[in-house]
This record gives sequence, C-alpha cells and structure tokens, in this order.
Amino acid sequence: MRVLVTGGAGFIGSHLCEALLSKGYAVTVLDNFDSYYSPDVKRRNMASFREKVRLVEGDIRSEAALDKALKDVDVVAHLAARAGVRASLEHPALYVENNVGGTQKLLEAMVERGRMRLVFASSSSVYGSRKSGPFQEDDKVLEPVSPYAATKLSGEYLCLAAHKTWGMHVNSMRLFTVFGPRQRPEMAIHFFSRLALEGKPIPRFGSGESVRDYTYVTDIVAGLVSAIETPCGYRVFNLGNDNPISLNALISSLGEALKCPMHVESHGDQPGDVPRTWASIERAKRELSYVPEVPLTLGLARFVSWLKGAN
Ligand code: NAD
Repeated sequence: MRVLVTGGAGFIGSHLCEALLSKGYAVTVLDNFDSYYSPDVKRRNMASFREKVRLVEGDIRSEAALDKALKDVDVVAHLAARAGVRASLEHPALYVENNVGGTQKLLEAMVERGRMRLVFASSSSVYGSRKSGPFQEDDKVLEPVSPYAATKLSGEYLCLAAHKTWGMHVNSMRLFTVFGPRQRPEMAIHFFSRLALEGKPIPRFGSGESVRDYTYVTDIVAGLVSAIETPCGYRVFNLGNDNPISLNALISSLGEALKCPMHVESHGDQPGDVPRTWASIERAKRELSYVPEVPLTLGLARFVSWLKGAN
C-alpha cells in the first residue's frame, strides 16, 4: 500500500512517515516547506527517511504537484496546513486559502483520479470554548473561536461533503495538543523550553489555570496509522490523552524535566485561546484500538533529551 502524507516534512507528518515506513508501507510526501517556521528544520525532520520516500516538493493547491503526488497512492493522510491559533488571528485569509482551499483542491484531485480514502488532520480547537468535558465527537455545538479552528471545522465539512457526494472514505481526526521531539518551535512546550534554557522569562497568558490534553506524538501517530488502515465511511475521532493538565502544572513539570528554574511573566488572556481541551477517547479505543501509552512526564523527558541533543 502507498500512502501520501501531505505535510510529511512537518512535526507530526515526519513521525507519521517513520511509522508507516517501519510497517513496510510505501510513502510519498507532498510538502511545500513553507516559511511558517524554518524550512531547514523541516529538511532536518526528514533526514532519517528522506532516501526512503518519494518527495514531491510542492503545494497542495497546485494541480501539477497533486498530479505527481497522487501517482499510485491508495490512501492520503492530509496533514498539510497552516497550523497555529495565534498566527491565524494575524493572517486569517492566508489560513482560509491554505487550509480550506487546499483541502478542497486535494479532495477534487483525489476524486478525479479515483483515490477514495483520506485521513484528515483536524483539531480539538473545533470544539471551541468549553468549561466542561470530556469532549465527545458527536457533540452538535461546535463553535470555533479562531480563524485556524474555523478552517479545521470547514475542512471536516468539506470531507463530509466529499463522502456524501462522491462516496469518499474519510476519517477526520481531532488531534489534541501534540508534543514530542520536533514539535513546532512556537508551540508552548518547545518555546518555553528554549527560553528557560537561556535563562529568559516565560510568557504565561491568563492565570495558568487553562488546561490542555497534551498527547505524545507517537501515540497520535499510532492512532493515525490505525485510521489509515481502517476505512469507516465518514467518521470523526478524537485522538487525545483523556488527562487534562493545567498550564501551571505543565510549566512546573517542564522545569523538572529541564532541570532549570522557570521564571514566569504573567500576561492577560490571549484572544483565540480556549480555557480547556479534554478528549473523550472511547470511540478511538473501541474502533481503532487506540491506547495512549506515554504519560506527560516520560514524554517531556524524551522531548528534553531531543532538544538538548538537537542544539
Ligand atoms: P507543521 O507546521 O509542523 O506541519 C505542517 C506541514 O505542512 C509543514 O511541513 C508545511 O511546510 C506543510 N504545508 C503547509 N501548507 C502547505 C501547502 N499548502 N502545501 C504543501 N505543504 C504545506 O504542523 P504540525 O504541528 O505537524 O501539524 C500537522 C497537522 O496536524 C496540521 O494540519 C495541524 O493543523 C494538525 N494539528 C496539529 C496539532 C498539534 O498539536 N501539533 C493539533 C491539532 C491539529
């Protein structure tokens, strides 16, 4: 089986490529190495497997790139996107063009070529601002509070329409704050770690009581691989940890893992941020045999050892 991983040079995509290769799948990567963060970092992400994959360097919005990338492909894992809530507040149109327009272009190119199986990387952010949890996939009220979240929910709906119109099989995976080696440099764990190691203050937005369901990248990838192997018609799955942690607790655990003091600098609430994410993972457990295995402390230790080795 050949799997096309869009965004395969990114944080999660590069781990997914490694997992697919280790299971004996053929892998094509379509990535435009965009400048959201350094393209050199993305080339390093691919270093261990670059020679083992077919790489198409191009954009999901380009017909020519899609034509090359979809050759001989059985399943597409669609991770290419502008990620990041905060940057989406500054460039909303860019996020819509890339994440919504790009997803629709990909869906159409797939249908034209008879490629009918897709796994879509959605996000916990589609649930919006909620005080209680855990979040269930069948919740009907989804109120995204940032342009990024709205593009991810739109992507889910485009996939649903592709299922209804053309019979495409799509698993939409709502990923909950993913961390581990190669995490995007602007994400909290990575950003805070670099500042702390340089002895600089850590900007904390809000009171620190906001909670996130941090999920280790190899657990997420195991869920994605299982979704790639399991066509379900159209199905939405949460991939999280069912173990929400407050920002204050995260900062303290990160300080222990880094073995350095964390000087917190308090700021007001950040627009677009939600107070809580918390995944119900019962469906993924039942239907995808998904079981998160890496607890936060172990995951942070692995992240720190990667970070120190990578610097
Ligand atoms: P990332 O930025 O590291 O990876 C995205 C990759 O997509 C990058 O390599 C980028 O160059 C590529 N890309 C962007 N636009 C493209 C385009 N138009 N054409 C081709 N390639 C393009 O991000 P990530 O953290 O690995 O996230 C991967 C996916 O998972 C994204 O869709 C993101 O929305 C989703 N997600 C991530 C998280 C998380 O915690 N990291 C949580 C929820 C959802």
